[in-house]
Amino acid sequence: MSRLIDLAIESHLLNFKHNGLNAAEDDPFFVMDLGEVTRQHRRWRLHMPGVHPFYAVKCNSDPPLLRLLAEKGTGFDCASVEEMRSVLGLGVDPARIIFANPCKSASSLVFARQAGVNLTTFDNLDELETIKSYHPDCRLVLRIFAYDKDALLNLSQKFGAPEESVLSLLQRARELDLNVMGVSFHVGTGACNAMPYLLAIQQAKGVFEQAQKLGHRMSLLDLGGGFQDYNFEQIARSLRGALGDGFPSDTRIIAEPGRYYARSAYTLACKVMSRRRQIGSLAKLKPDMLYQNDGVYGSFMNVLIEKETIQPFLVPGSRHGSKRQSGPHCYSIWGPTCDSVDCVVNQTIIESEVKVGDWLKYKNMGATQFNGFSKPRVVAYVDSESQDYQKEASCLGIPLPVEKGCVESITAWVAQESLKA
Ligand SMILES: *Cc1c(COP(=O)(O)O)cnc(C)c1O
Repeated sequence: MSRLIDLAIESHLLNFKHNGLNAAEDDPFFVMDLGEVTRQHRRWRLHMPGVHPFYAVKCNSDPPLLRLLAEKGTGFDCASVEEMRSVLGLGVDPARIIFANPCKSASSLVFARQAGVNLTTFDNLDELETIKSYHPDCRLVLRIFAYDKDALLNLSQKFGAPEESVLSLLQRARELDLNVMGVSFHVGTGACNAMPYLLAIQQAKGVFEQAQKLGHRMSLLDLGGGFQDYNFEQIARSLRGALGDGFPSDTRIIAEPGRYYARSAYTLACKVMSRRRQIGSLAKLKPDMLYQNDGVYGSFMNVLIEKETIQPFLVPGSRHGSKRQSGPHCYSIWGPTCDSVDCVVNQTIIESEVKVGDWLKYKNMGATQFNGFSKPRVVAYVDSESQDYQKEASCLGIPLPVEKGCVESITAWVAQESLKA
């Protein structure tokens, strides 16, 4: 699979050589493997049968990713009007969207109502009043407080109704004649084990009972996100055991995986702009320093937020060919800003010497939140799951044969879309 990604990166860099120096040559870029999403979806269906995934768009809203998921039949967790627009723009039925933001603006509720998005979360009394005013027929899902002290990122500190408030919320919803029909939680991003899910499911059972006593007809359980690659099967197994009983038999179970689908599909390439070799006595104390064109204020935000460890690889076919020292070299890697916090990795081993003008690739970069910074462009979409062996890398821009996979119809679609824009 990674051979296909390497080919796409190399072909992009080769294009530069043909076209001469231009500004784009100094920009970081992504290559995306649609096949990775296909495999993750297959894995989900195998291990979480009966749990319908609603992809959390905030994780990565790249249109071809959304389109592929739409084709595969997932639902979508949208947190804003922009996210609903992106998904609806693909022709997705609004019934496949949950507006999963428990603290919404009035105008976003008006948008949802007009667009036919008829399912949203809430976690406080005031929100019920807003919903009553702007989208009174919306079906409601009570987001309860779930806490995972070990998660990489804990969102429940911001959202989720504490247990003590549940009864008042359900009663007030009755008084306002609002339709509460489900319970949701989100244990936070990057759950280490099944424990927080199991606790939250237990709590949700209690909320179902309370709600039904008050006359709400409960039929939806939403497990939120937080699923990771390395322990997915283990968590799925525990969840299958816990979801069996305690809920009405017609309960629909959904989840909101984000990074699970997006993370592994994107590989980032960054260019080394400068290098400081340590000289004299410092050479024994500190690794040489590489300065690249993307850092913690861009694609490497997770280094700051989640203390993620980052492993770069030298892009094969980078410049200088054989004129580099072979064997492992130790480096620290820095982003392009003048802020000293902008350190991508303090100390890492790369398989050979790295020189200015070289490119480094970083895998698993698809789940980065950009918080307003512009995202590097995706320069190629490949599909390692495609069975089409005939096509050539010429569709990547160069006449290299590809062992497996090719740029798919999705790329044609992207091209069409950019023509329209
Ligand atoms: C961010 C978020 C998700 C997705 O989280 P991942 O860790 O990326 O799976 C799901 N649900 C809600 C409510 C979120 O805020």
